[in-house]
Amino acid sequence: MPRKPKTPVKDFFAGAALLAGFGLLYILFWLLALLAIAGMIFFGLTVFTNWNLGERLGCSLLSAFIAMKVLWFISEMLDLIPASWIDGKKKMKPCPECGKNLRTALAQQCMHCGADWHT
Ligand SMILES: [Zn+2]
Repeated sequence: MPRKPKTPVKDFFAGAALLAGFGLLYILFWLLALLAIAGMIFFGLTVFTNWNLGERLGCSLLSAFIAMKVLWFISEMLDLIPASWIDGKKKMKPCPECGKNLRTALAQQCMHCGADWHT
C-alpha cells in the first residue's frame, strides 16, 4: 500500500530517526555476535590449550573479528546476487507508439494505446 505523507519535513525526520535506530540496532547486533563468537573461541582455547588469559583473549577477539568480516562479505555477496536478478527482471520494453512500459518484454500489443505489432 503506497504511503501518502502529509508533511514531507516531518516524514524526513521520522525516516532519519528510523535509519539511526536501525543503524544502532545493527551495530549492537554485530557487537553481540562478535562477543558470542569470541566467547565460543575463548572457551575452545580454554579447553584445548594452556595459553594464558591474555593470549586466549587476544586470539579469540581477533578470530571473531575476522569471522565477522568473512560473514559480512558473504552476506554482501548474497545481497548483490538477488538485487541484480530483480533489476534484470524490472527492465521493461517501452511501446514503440506511445513510449509507455509494456506489460512484458515479449508483449506484442500495448495496453495503453492499443498499438499492435503481431507478425
Ligand atoms: Zn503504446
